[in-house]
Amino acid sequence: MTDVYADGAGAGAGADGEGDGGGAGAEAGEIRRFWEALGLPGLVDVHTHFMPERVLRKVWEYFDALGPLTGGMEWPIRYREEEAERAALLREFGVRAFTAMLYPHKPGMARWLNGWAVDFARRTPDCLHTATLFPEPGVETCVREAVEAGARVFKAHVQVGAYDPADELLDRAWGLLAEAGVPVVIHCGSGPTPGKHTGPEPIARVLARHPRLRLIVAHMGMPEYEEFLGLAERYGEVRLDTTMAFTDFTERFMPFPRRALPRLTTLADRVLLGSDFPNIPYPYLHQLHALERLDLGEEWLRGVCHDNAAELFGL
Ligand SMILES: [Zn+2]
Repeated sequence: MTDVYADGAGAGAGADGEGDGGGAGAEAGEIRRFWEALGLPGLVDVHTHFMPERVLRKVWEYFDALGPLTGGMEWPIRYREEEAERAALLREFGVRAFTAMLYPHKPGMARWLNGWAVDFARRTPDCLHTATLFPEPGVETCVREAVEAGARVFKAHVQVGAYDPADELLDRAWGLLAEAGVPVVIHCGSGPTPGKHTGPEPIARVLARHPRLRLIVAHMGMPEYEEFLGLAERYGEVRLDTTMAFTDFTERFMPFPRRALPRLTTLADRVLLGSDFPNIPYPYLHQLHALERLDLGEEWLRGVCHDNAAELFGL
């Protein structure tokens, strides 16, 4: 896809096709109008998924099976495109910087994923070089190598990895990341389904040992929103990403408590836009509208959609 769609010129063409340029072009125009109206130079999205093709296929298979498996929740992946098209789409939306959230579900995988991510960052300059980790012997070396290779953000997935983030094996790795000031986006809330080690308690233990660790709690910590806000209030380097929070999809089964809204204002400089692109069951624009309708003001939106992450990553 080319820039022709960015100004809406392609909006009429082929708008009937699922995932073709026309529909995406119209959406890109609306997204650009959203951040232009705020006076921003674009968006920064700290939670987007790029990973080796066969791993991503497996993730998509998982979401495809959700409807039949659960007899309920349908999760139609909205942006099921080839990798280059997915990155091009983010650029059309005006996402200045994004991440490659990837994560192992078993030992022996993190180093391979990190190798792929080095290559991806090299060929995708607007991607913040992302790495991951797993509690296994050698994890500290693996993390050090990734940091030395230029990783600017890590992803940890407590639910999929099914590990205790306070596992002793990870202790020195967290220490290293805290020291280096490299943020870690961590899926540690118990949504959409709880894991053995999800929830605020294990994270509280990690932070007690590493109070300066720059954890970015994914999905606002859903459904334990208030407990994770509490951790952010207690630890100045804890942040939260908005990924899927406040959307119609999520509000149906894990609503954000209205009484906690004022706390989002207090933490205005530590809430960061995340989307879960491309694995979302609704248009990207909906995440932005979901933030806007919280009615926390334009200054708040500017911080969340761009400025907070721009400052954190020195963009
Ligand atoms: Zn995600």
